[in-house]
Amino acid sequence: MKNCICTKPAFVAPKARPAPSLLVHIETSLDIGGATSYQTFRIKHDLDAWTAARVLYGWLGEEDGPPYLERLESCRSYAWFTRHERTGRVRIVTTTCKLRWCPLCQSARRNWVSAQVSEWLAAHRMAKFVTVTLKNSDCELAEQIAYLRKCFVKLRSSSLFRRKCRGGVWFLQVKKGKRSKQWHPHMHCLIDSEFIDRRTLSGLWEKITKDSMVTDIRLVVDKDKAANEVARYCAGSARLAEHSAPEAIEIFYALHGRRIAGTWGTGRKIKLRPPKFEDRNSWKTVGGWKEVTGAGPAHATARMILDAWKNNTPLAAGVSMVPTPKSMKDLDAEFYRRPGVQPFLDFYHPS
Ligand SMILES: [Zn+2]
Repeated sequence: MKNCICTKPAFVAPKARPAPSLLVHIETSLDIGGATSYQTFRIKHDLDAWTAARVLYGWLGEEDGPPYLERLESCRSYAWFTRHERTGRVRIVTTTCKLRWCPLCQSARRNWVSAQVSEWLAAHRMAKFVTVTLKNSDCELAEQIAYLRKCFVKLRSSSLFRRKCRGGVWFLQVKKGKRSKQWHPHMHCLIDSEFIDRRTLSGLWEKITKDSMVTDIRLVVDKDKAANEVARYCAGSARLAEHSAPEAIEIFYALHGRRIAGTWGTGRKIKLRPPKFEDRNSWKTVGGWKEVTGAGPAHATARMILDAWKNNTPLAAGVSMVPTPKSMKDLDAEFYRRPGVQPFLDFYHPS
């Protein structure tokens, strides 16, 4: 089987080599002033996920050639505070690795999808949350996922769904039973539909899968919770930190090059990827991360930049710590020759 874990050599834990930024993080306080890089500041939100991603990409990098670990470690390592010329808003421009299992890139995707799904749910007040899964088996994860997706396509094209469901968003969740040690991939979706009886759904699912009738369908009551759930799994189908390293590697290969979320029908209004910024060249740097956060509370300019960023308030024109402001175009040119590293406008702010 293509990309099957069985064809890979046995997992050997990579040499313990914590990123320098992690060491710094552990020794310093959690406030912004204590983080010597933007990456360090962001890693602190989920140190376990970062460590799990380093182990995974460290192993893959040695086996598969592409410098995965190098890419991961460069994520959010360069960062500048930027100001929008017209609105005065302050955001971070940072380098990004765009690796699926990078927790920092996942977090950016999660924030985007969550906002999109919340907007969609506001317009579809009778949306339902549907879960379908397969009967426990010892089959490889990749095989189970392929079968689950095939069955899910049949479900969506069934006469029941064509009559009652106008569209939705689907996403995949991968779990492993603590006792059974078997993989349990689930397919979840938020659907815009009329009432569907759970027993009817279970009967149809059993007919499609031949042996599985485990389904769930319920009205979405807590919209924020539903939006967060969708966003979490659209960004990554599993939480690597909850799995052993060999399991994380199996998850990586089972999902490599495959979609883990999608939309159909009325759900297409949910854009799972943020659009390119049309006015990206309106953002100009006002200071580097280290320069601004390390200037200390007595530095009036640094304080104004940080306050505008943290509180999401406009920064007055001319407030800057750099003699020659750089545009996104300048930063693009600066990072052009570094494969896998791209400047990215990060709308994260800590307030
Ligand atoms: Zn990343």
